[in-house]
Amino acid sequence: MATKWPIIGHHHAVSLLQREVARGELAHAYLFAGPPQIGKQTLSSILAQALLCQGDDPPCGDCDSCRRVVRRQHPDLQILDLPAQTRLLGEKTSAQHVLKIETIRKVQQGLFRRPLQADHKVILIPEAHLMTTAAANAFLKTLEEPPPYALLLLTTTQVEDLLPTIVSRCQVVPLHLLRITEIETALQRPPWKLEAAQARLLAHLSGGRIGWAIRAHEDSSVLEERQETLETLQRVLAGDDLERMEIAERMARLPDQGMETLAAWSTWWRDLLLLQSGADNGLTNVDRRDELARVARVWDVAETYSALSTLQETISALEHNVNALLAWEAFLLSLSVSGQPAESRT
Ligand SMILES: [Zn+2]
Repeated sequence: MATKWPIIGHHHAVSLLQREVARGELAHAYLFAGPPQIGKQTLSSILAQALLCQGDDPPCGDCDSCRRVVRRQHPDLQILDLPAQTRLLGEKTSAQHVLKIETIRKVQQGLFRRPLQADHKVILIPEAHLMTTAAANAFLKTLEEPPPYALLLLTTTQVEDLLPTIVSRCQVVPLHLLRITEIETALQRPPWKLEAAQARLLAHLSGGRIGWAIRAHEDSSVLEERQETLETLQRVLAGDDLERMEIAERMARLPDQGMETLAAWSTWWRDLLLLQSGADNGLTNVDRRDELARVARVWDVAETYSALSTLQETISALEHNVNALLAWEAFLLSLSVSGQPAESRT
């Protein structure tokens, strides 16, 4: 029986990889594809440990090699991301938005030097969709004829943005959102050891993204920002059009914050729909149940559905670079037209 890999969820993928490692039947390239913050990089890093480990029962997590993989300092492991590109090319950090062909060429040169410590050489490309078309075409050559000791591990949140020829030359491992209960249970164990109530809250808010839950636990500003976001929503619903216009202006100025705000609001409206349709399970904002239940009594399903649809159209419009101020104003003002704010009807 092999060591249990320290991965939360993804049982199917883990057992597949464990089998392939045990039989020495690994493919030369894997593509881990799925939503952000679900553990794709953790899984690729553990697979790298399994191959480079010097212990008896890889990945032992304890030997010098395993520790070096965690610190990203193993001589037979190369990470190919934007910070690595900054170092490789000696460029400014602010100039890094895509993975360039020059970087791929440098990595390729390094790959043809034999491993120093282990039997394998592992290349991790955490956001493979950031390769330019030229970089991806250059990388194809490595995928077609890799040196026998090479293992190429790509991860992506946007598999549709990769060249089909890249995808077809990798063994694709699709990864999905985790079950809320899996996250809730994991957070109560070491190293996090959260109280049951906090584990439950973070697991629900994470929407199945273990990475988000861990970040929210480690960085208190994550929950504070969410709190602020939901308070803004209450101001939008209870306020007048002047206040809505002010909020629209503020959001349009801060595109990243604006998108996060819309993502949080959409969970709130989805919860509202769930309550209105009599479903009590599956709420994301479990700590807001009372407030949601109150609004659910005064809004009707059609109003909620219309607000959620308009919100999703706004997200899509902003993703396609429309005028942000106009998009925000149209959305927030629609909330005063679609129905009186809930507060005034209670
Ligand atoms: Zn080890």
